[in-house]
Formats: sequence, C-alpha cells, structure tokens
Amino acid sequence: MRLAGVRCAATETAPVLRRRGRELWTPDADAFLQRHARCCRSPELARRLGVTRSAIRNRLWGLRRCDRSILGHRWTTKEDGELRRLAGSISVAEIAQRLGRTGAGVRIRAVKLGVSVRRPTGWVESDGYIMRSRDGRRERQHRRVMERTLGRSLDPAERVHHINLVKTDNASANLHVCRGDAEHLRAHRSLDRLVPALLEREIIKFDRAAGVYRLVGAARR
Ligand SMILES: [Zn+2]
Repeated sequence: MRLAGVRCAATETAPVLRRRGRELWTPDADAFLQRHARCCRSPELARRLGVTRSAIRNRLWGLRRCDRSILGHRWTTKEDGELRRLAGSISVAEIAQRLGRTGAGVRIRAVKLGVSVRRPTGWVESDGYIMRSRDGRRERQHRRVMERTLGRSLDPAERVHHINLVKTDNASANLHVCRGDAEHLRAHRSLDRLVPALLEREIIKFDRAAGVYRLVGAARR
C-alpha cells in the first residue's frame, strides 16, 4: 500500500483507542487510520495504535466498505456546507440520513473539517429533565452532574432529587442523591408536611378564587 512520493508524518501522535466504551474505534482513530492507510503498512499502524494487525485490516476493510468518501466518492463542497450547517443541531444519524452517508463517514468527515458533531447543549425532555447526548447515548444531565459530584456511577435504583423542585436546575448544590424511590418520596412528602406551618406563619396563603397556593405579599401571576 506504500505509495511513492507520499511521506508519512511519522511524528504525528496516534490517538488513544477507547477500549472500555461501546466502540473501540473513535472518529479520531478512524481519521488517523485513513490518513496513514496509504503511507504506513498495517504492522506499523497496529503498533502505533496499539491494536493487532487484523484489527487494522478489519477496520480498513469496514471503512472502505461503508464510507463512500474513500471509495472515491469525495465530499462535495455542498455536502461539506450541509455538514457544517447541521453539525451540533441534529444527531449524527440524522445528518447521515440526510446526506445519504454512514454515521462513521459523517464523523470522520467532521473530524477532517474540524467541526464538532456533538450537540453542544442538552434539550428538555417532555418529562421536564434536561437530556444530553454522550457517546451516542442519551443521558439525564442531573444524574451525570451527581455522578461527577460523587466521583462514582449512580446505581439505577438511586434517585437524584432537585432540592428546589426545579428539574432544570442541575447545579450540584441543588441536587441530592436518594438511595431509592422511598427515600425520594420522603423528601417530597416532607415538603408537603411543612404547609400547615407555612400557612400559620403567613408565608403562603391559599387563593380560593384561583384554587392555588401563593406567597404572601407576592404579585399575582
Ligand atoms: Zn425529587
């Protein structure tokens, strides 16, 4: 595969392959592989990426098969423009569908263009929680914030409570981890039990006309 006249930038540091996540090959690693597929032999690529020769061959074969761009179907200026425009606003799968390419192809092209296809901000799900896309999976931001605060993963049974009850306020100071549903329910019920005292102290009142509680002295909304 070595082409005369193509000089390998041998000093380029190979990206680290992710081994524990779902995918071994990251877009960076794929882009690296493609850049060096013509100038480096597979044993050298294997050494630099820290994988077996067959892993390199399989990946190259897979990429050639699925990515039209290395079969000679180059990305047009118009397609690049579309990718730049759509990157970050919709998922990679959706971009791939619109452009008639594979997700891997879109990711690799995005790396080459220096465009991030990650959705930069989360979105609010219908249940009121902020969702984020991470490594192709959807996750609830408040759980992620809590995991970072605790320095460990959350157990699926654990619940993350929003202290001010505002589900979009994911500041770590507003989050509290509960061991399960019972403990979470207890947190919510404890607030309900404060109502008699809040009424008695005239901090809140019940507006019969509207059928809702209001802060005493607050402007009607
Ligand atoms: Zn809660």
